Amino acid sequence: MSKTPQIVSKRRRATGPFAWHASCIDPTVKPIFHRGETGRLGIPRRTFFAQDSCQTGRHAGFTLVEMMVVVAIISILLTMITTVVTDGRRQARQTDCKSNLRQTGIAILVYRGEHNGANPPWLSNLYPEYLDDLRCFVCKSDRARGLGLIRPADLPPDVSGDKFPEVIDNDSVSSRHTLQNGNVRANSYFYEFSAADCSWGKDTKFKADPQDESPVKWWEAKEYQLRYGDKYNGGGEPDAPVPYSQSKLPIVRCYHHHREGRIRAYTENSLTVNADGTRSGALSQQHIAINIAYAGNVYVGPLWWEGMPDPGEREQ
Ligand SMILES: [Zn+2]
Repeated sequence: MSKTPQIVSKRRRATGPFAWHASCIDPTVKPIFHRGETGRLGIPRRTFFAQDSCQTGRHAGFTLVEMMVVVAIISILLTMITTVVTDGRRQARQTDCKSNLRQTGIAILVYRGEHNGANPPWLSNLYPEYLDDLRCFVCKSDRARGLGLIRPADLPPDVSGDKFPEVIDNDSVSSRHTLQNGNVRANSYFYEFSAADCSWGKDTKFKADPQDESPVKWWEAKEYQLRYGDKYNGGGEPDAPVPYSQSKLPIVRCYHHHREGRIRAYTENSLTVNADGTRSGALSQQHIAINIAYAGNVYVGPLWWEGMPDPGEREQ
């Protein structure tokens, strides 16, 4: 007589609220494992369906539907936990970046105060006298850790047309600008007021001295934009200036968070500047950048910062 446990292949008809068991151990033969038996690791093992349950027709185990519900609930819980953890890490990286930018903003203000209002030629010039911690130059959301593009290659199409390689202030370029500080090897941040030749600001009106025929620098074009405004705020000319707010116009930007959040803003195509200088248009969800404004405050805004709505602006 064989001592090998047997599994009955026939299914028992259920009379309870559930239609059937997936399988059941024949009550007349010894089950594969009884309660109290232990496996190889000493862990107590028991049958999936208790023997007495089968004898009585009551359901102490799980039906297939119940198992599927449990698996679905566990999957939903895991998804929720993963989302919470991911959001937490994202927020932590942004908080760390804002801390870097606050330190940098203070350093720029101090530098400006000691140089008759002039900004540093490059961010790296702040080290070490005005900003002595090299970690402040690197954003934790920057996948290249400060040794690559300062405008990521995967920016959305409407703002990814130009990477502005002339303003990179880290060791990823073959030869660095003569005024950059080579002791700052890694840098994640985009400095708008740099001493680089401006690839887009060719207009000589940006020059304070009309006789100056040298290439327009980034800082000259941005100083002009700050002072006189541009077509996106209804200004742009010295005889009809509409200056940008110093707490709005960015001086340093971090583009490495563009996939980490959205903010409502105009796009260049959705913005309408009316004859009286007021602005209107359709607002939509836009990717974000973290900025230091010229005045030193840190804020989150859209990638195209000129599209940030002001209080009171109405959506069409
Ligand atoms: Zn950042």
